Amino acid sequence: MKNAKVDYLFFGAHPDDAEIGCGGTMLDSVANGKKIGLVDLTRGEMGTRGTAETRLRESLAAARVLGALFRVQLDLGDGNLRTGREEELDVISVIRKHRPSIVFAPFPDDRHPDHTRAGQLVTEASFYAGLAKIDTDQAPHRPQTVVYYMQNYVNQPTFVVDTTAQQKTKMDALRCYKSQFYNPKSKERMTAIAKKSFIDMIEARARHFGAMIGAEFGEGFVTKLPPRVDDVTAAFRGREV
Ligand SMILES: [Zn+2]
Repeated sequence: MKNAKVDYLFFGAHPDDAEIGCGGTMLDSVANGKKIGLVDLTRGEMGTRGTAETRLRESLAAARVLGALFRVQLDLGDGNLRTGREEELDVISVIRKHRPSIVFAPFPDDRHPDHTRAGQLVTEASFYAGLAKIDTDQAPHRPQTVVYYMQNYVNQPTFVVDTTAQQKTKMDALRCYKSQFYNPKSKERMTAIAKKSFIDMIEARARHFGAMIGAEFGEGFVTKLPPRVDDVTAAFRGREV
């Protein structure tokens, strides 16, 4: 499966980033017959809780819940995510191998510098992957666009996906990260994301984005160019001024 072509490829700086930002959209895509894959740019070895090994196990369990064909992990350095030519070629190779139509990445301006760097690196690699003379022994491939999901900083979304039907399973996927999120049984040092308030915030954010489109839950995304809308009435269905 590791060579599989996918419709959507979801990148995160750390294991768990992508599903926090767009786990509902992953599930919705799979429910609609799309093939998805996940790529973590680092092993998450600098996380206060857990180890790279426990985080890998948890992330693979989450990928199964999300219906991903595969989850690959690069090792670009948690806490100092490297973005040089070598790392760019690693990301280009992954894009050329899986040939996604759409790439999802962190919004390239966030509180955590790794998220900012990841968003920038994936954006640039998505363009360069289409340049035939960058030689990785693979055919060039350029995705249609990069779609940004949000992490600590919240931006006005370019579009919102209705994830109402997926909300419960998304939270099940997040619960696979027993070392990271709210777990009353954990004896490890408390962190901001391990507090119950973090999980509550994730749900509240989904309700907030959902409310913007008249749905119970939603996930908001930013793109540099707007999506083409073929039916304006359908795009605003169930809404009123
Ligand atoms: Zn992260």
